[in-house]
Amino acid sequence: MANPLKVILLVLLLFLPSQGNSWGFYAHQRINRLAVFALPPEMVGFYKKHIRYITENAVNPDKRRYAVEGEAPRHYIDLDVYGDSALYKMPRYWQQAVEKYSEDTLQTYGIVPWHINLMKYQLTQAFKERNLERILRLSTEIGHYIADACVPLHTTQNYNGQLTGQRGIHGFWESRLPEMYAGNYDFFVGQALYLEQPQLKAWGIVSSAHLALDSVLYFEKQLTQEFEEEKKYSFEVRNNLTTRVYSRPFSLAYHNQLRGQVERQMRLAIHTIASFWYTAWVDAGQPSLGTLANTLTPEQLHQLELEKKAYETGNHTPREEGN
Ligand SMILES: [Zn+2]
Repeated sequence: MANPLKVILLVLLLFLPSQGNSWGFYAHQRINRLAVFALPPEMVGFYKKHIRYITENAVNPDKRRYAVEGEAPRHYIDLDVYGDSALYKMPRYWQQAVEKYSEDTLQTYGIVPWHINLMKYQLTQAFKERNLERILRLSTEIGHYIADACVPLHTTQNYNGQLTGQRGIHGFWESRLPEMYAGNYDFFVGQALYLEQPQLKAWGIVSSAHLALDSVLYFEKQLTQEFEEEKKYSFEVRNNLTTRVYSRPFSLAYHNQLRGQVERQMRLAIHTIASFWYTAWVDAGQPSLGTLANTLTPEQLHQLELEKKAYETGNHTPREEGN
């Protein structure tokens, strides 16, 4: 450890910015984009026409976490604070959950499954009103929350491994692994399905994520014992900054141990998003999308610009999920 280069690198580490993104920009954009291709013929043309909007704005809800109070809890649910069998005991519907735990408690520990259902209702309304701006915005954003609900570390209070000495695992699983390996994933997920009970489906994806949590934490811990510290991490230059990352050999070993888990959760997200879009459209009476206005008005574009600025300068501090 007396090596001066090592000391400098260690000091650098302490001042690295944390990322604070869920799924990372890359995965969120990829997931929203791919969901378009799982839509039935009556919908796919419209969504393809707006695929750029749906892709580029996929991370807006994360940007807003710094600016908008009440935004943060929409991205996760800390199931373990409700006890061991919370996954099975939690009331599925908002009203019953509020009666059992109080709204304050729910907001404190996250509301993602209920928020997805609320957005599904709003998207259905937007289709009924044939409101282009709202259809695009709500489709894009429900995609974000559904994708978040598929991430195991979005279902626990140990969301960044901070309680088990595994700090950094959040960004590792949901940003670095997809960035490194998603190029080889099979994203053909088949066609969207009509969801008889959207609220229960939202819980279904939370369950799938939560059941995967043990392996997310366990394999990282196990590999950490096998790898020497300097082999576990390496340094890469990103945006002209030397950044500490999980090394390629460590990432590969972890990815192999997870046996396709990241791919499965991404596929689940893609198929579920398309199914929610489709269900909202069916529930709205299957309005023809071909005759909706082609582009956003200048006012709507201006509004998007203003929001972007507000998000960038906001001052709420969501919990840290990066390194
Ligand atoms: Zn998020």
